[in-house]
Amino acid sequence: MEDLKEALRQREYIEKMRSVLRDRTASFGRVPTYFIETLGCQMNAKDSEKFAGILEEIGYVKARGEFEADLVLYNTCTVRENANTKIYGHLGQLGAVKKRENPGMRIALCGCMMQEPDEVQTVREKYPFVDLVFGTHNGFKLAELLYRMETEEGPVIDVWEGTEMIVEDLPAIRKYRFKSGVNIMYGCNNFCSYCIVPYVRGRERSRTPENILEEIRFLASDGVKEVMLLGQNVNSYGKTLSPEVHFSELLRQVVRVDGIERIRFMTSHPKDLSDELIETMAYDPKICNHIHLPLQSGSDRILRLMNRHYDTERYLSIVEKLRRTVPDIQITTDLIVGFPGETEEDFQATLQMVKTVRYASAFTFLYSRRTGTPAAKMPDQVPDDTANERFQRLLRLVQEVGREESGKLAGRTLPVLVDETNRQDKTLVTGRLRDNTVVHFPGGAELIGEIVPVFLRESKGFYYLGERC
Ligand code: SAM
Ligand code: SF4
Repeated sequence: MEDLKEALRQREYIEKMRSVLRDRTASFGRVPTYFIETLGCQMNAKDSEKFAGILEEIGYVKARGEFEADLVLYNTCTVRENANTKIYGHLGQLGAVKKRENPGMRIALCGCMMQEPDEVQTVREKYPFVDLVFGTHNGFKLAELLYRMETEEGPVIDVWEGTEMIVEDLPAIRKYRFKSGVNIMYGCNNFCSYCIVPYVRGRERSRTPENILEEIRFLASDGVKEVMLLGQNVNSYGKTLSPEVHFSELLRQVVRVDGIERIRFMTSHPKDLSDELIETMAYDPKICNHIHLPLQSGSDRILRLMNRHYDTERYLSIVEKLRRTVPDIQITTDLIVGFPGETEEDFQATLQMVKTVRYASAFTFLYSRRTGTPAAKMPDQVPDDTANERFQRLLRLVQEVGREESGKLAGRTLPVLVDETNRQDKTLVTGRLRDNTVVHFPGGAELIGEIVPVFLRESKGFYYLGERC
């Protein structure tokens, strides 16, 4: 159940912080500003929208850059080592600015990396200028934590090991007014052997369909046309509810919300992907014909070591059913190179799967050894130069196949949801097809948020140039 009492409690802290901010505005002679830097996945992006909502409700306004903000919040990721390195690099620079130019600057850290006790210890010891640290389970407490930061001595550090609480019903600022992510579940129970997420995001828990639908109805009334249902493994949605609710059932209910014209979801774990879901994807054109289906490796031996609970035969049978049932579906994926023990033969099997499945695009990752995961202790860690060389070969193939796959619709006229004015050429707008491919075409800002028919004149590899019809 979602905790309404806690949401009300947090609204009281928002009020308290508003009064702190009013005093601050009077003494600064201007309104205090905030800046949020978000690393990592869609979940973090969604959390940051909630943080921005709370901060703006308190009265902060958005700063142009982190160095000029009065409050800087880093929402961290820890899925790969380089994400941690990046944060410490940023912090070093920010600490220097705080010392030299703006001693009143407040610096806060949150997100997955802060769920790791060693990292919190490093922050305490090496970055004493950080004022606030919290984790993935208590972000809804942002207003309360800020209030403590403003009224107590020394840094506030509040990281929970886990929680059963789901607190929604707090303000949020959407990046786009016409599309939005919607959390349908939190955490992960899969424990893929390389992955830190279950340790930092906790056990899987689903929101009830009633609460999800209420949020989506509100979003639709506020101008949202496209929702992205978010979870680490949406295919196991509803298993923690009683009675259980299947993800396909949830999708069918979302389809019935007036005003919602496109429904996306991510991520789909192949082990739990059912025939029912495939049929549901074909059941209503509101459900987009795109699926992100992480393969990770094309070698059955490596998939077993990864604890993924499917093999390539099962994966290919899903792909075959998807292609047969959902017209023009685009399939994208995640691939990891250099998992411990990966041989050239295992790697060749991954290349082969890319050729067989024909992904429209893929996120390719170099395996990163995460302390605390089973894979970190596995023998035969692959040397960096071998992994790097394989990574380059994989990237070349993924790009070659992606270019061919994403260009197949040239010559057709299809609906495009316009996202923004093109960043390079202001005479163009940029949007997406239902299958998630990018389209650029001549048009003005008044089209942003509209779904318009576009003739796909020319494929440029991963995007189309088109003309509005
Ligand atoms: N829950 C999603 C799933 O299972 O497909 C993925 C979430 S994870 C944040 C996104 C991707 O990061 C994974 O699919 C995987 O490819 C990659 N990843 C996770 N841990 C990794 C590691 N230790 N090294 C390299 N890539 C990793
Ligand atoms: Fe990580 Fe696997 Fe969970 Fe995805 S399903 S978040 S890869 S443990």
